[in-house]
Amino acid sequence: MQAEKSSKDSGEPPSARPYQGLKSFTSAGRGFWHDVAETDWNDWRWQLKHRITTVEQLQKYFPTLTPEELAGAQLSNSKLALGITPYFFNLIDPADENCPVRWQVIPRIEETSTASWEMSDPCGEDSHSPVPGLVHRYPDRVLFLVTDRCASYCRYCTRSRLVSNASGYDFHPEYDKQIAYIAAHPEIRDVLLSGGDPLLLSDEKLENLLSRLRAIPHVEFLRIGTRIPVFLPQRITPELCAMLKQFHPLFVSIHSNHPRELTTEVRDALARLADAGIPLGNQTVLLKHVNDDADVMKAHLQKLLMCRVRPYYIYQCDLIAGSAHLRASVRKGIEIMEKLRGHTTGYAVPTYVIDAPGGGGKVPVSPEYVLSRNADRVVIRNFEGKIFEYPEATDGTPLFKAPKKIEEPELV
Ligand code: SF4
Repeated sequence: MQAEKSSKDSGEPPSARPYQGLKSFTSAGRGFWHDVAETDWNDWRWQLKHRITTVEQLQKYFPTLTPEELAGAQLSNSKLALGITPYFFNLIDPADENCPVRWQVIPRIEETSTASWEMSDPCGEDSHSPVPGLVHRYPDRVLFLVTDRCASYCRYCTRSRLVSNASGYDFHPEYDKQIAYIAAHPEIRDVLLSGGDPLLLSDEKLENLLSRLRAIPHVEFLRIGTRIPVFLPQRITPELCAMLKQFHPLFVSIHSNHPRELTTEVRDALARLADAGIPLGNQTVLLKHVNDDADVMKAHLQKLLMCRVRPYYIYQCDLIAGSAHLRASVRKGIEIMEKLRGHTTGYAVPTYVIDAPGGGGKVPVSPEYVLSRNADRVVIRNFEGKIFEYPEATDGTPLFKAPKKIEEPELV
């Protein structure tokens, strides 16, 4: 990917340059670990072993820690553990208090404030869990939680109650019981492995689990939800990809929030997955200080397509306890969607959803494009605000005469 050119060279208006800069691919670099052997740096187990997990390490590498961050880091291990891979740590700009990567993984004292509408289990997963570690909320699919560990911890995680086990949730998935439940329920055709991060399991353990699920005749479709390609691209080894491709149809949903996360290392890791025939989607959480800006979001979504990843969802941040400082408004989310649809490739436009508090499932939220509708016609507007009428088909009977005008538009 070419480096950014000067405005004189590129002929672009100055306002276009920062946007293009967001989409250029660069390496995360080696930073504080420049003298570590190449083989170690590229070894995912080395990266995990050398994660930043203590306040002392954070202060050592990060002298510009703010008082809010220091206080948050001191308390994090009783809520959601501090954990950042060296690779991902290098993406933080220590000179920028508003660095979008920093806001995602450095704890802050605001996490200890809980609004009355915030919850420890905002999606009601525990109340839809027939056996430990399995969530059966939708009719034909289940969420299979395989571990409580992640490569790094996102400060807004909707499963903060269980991931990292800092708050004593005592999560113990029981694969035998989870698999037995799926086998006994023929309506389950889709299994999503998540956690924690399933790609933290060893290749052998993951292969064993996927084999057992594939052996269930009514399981048509497997999915893995993971942030590993972004936090730890070293984990996406050729061996892992070769193992995963035995289990098609297998989709992988990654989780990336900002174009800066899509480095050359991540792009290469995603290419290895795509070359194994794995369809890739992305889930983004709308976050204040990170991606609550239409240009940033659009650059991110376009950059995902360049990595062969189809943007799938933008999530309104769940009402997880202690996340108010990161939660952007629904108004902002709709405004961003308005600036995407029609303004960029349809493949780059994900569905914006609110996971209904308490376990109502995902509800799509979008700008209003249907202005009115009756039995005869639909009045719509396009991305430019132009109004069009579309004659309604009536119970499959072709309509030959002009449809009646809508006297009083019914807003839907
Ligand atoms: S990777 Fe996923 S499960 Fe892990 S902390 Fe981040 S959002 Fe939560």
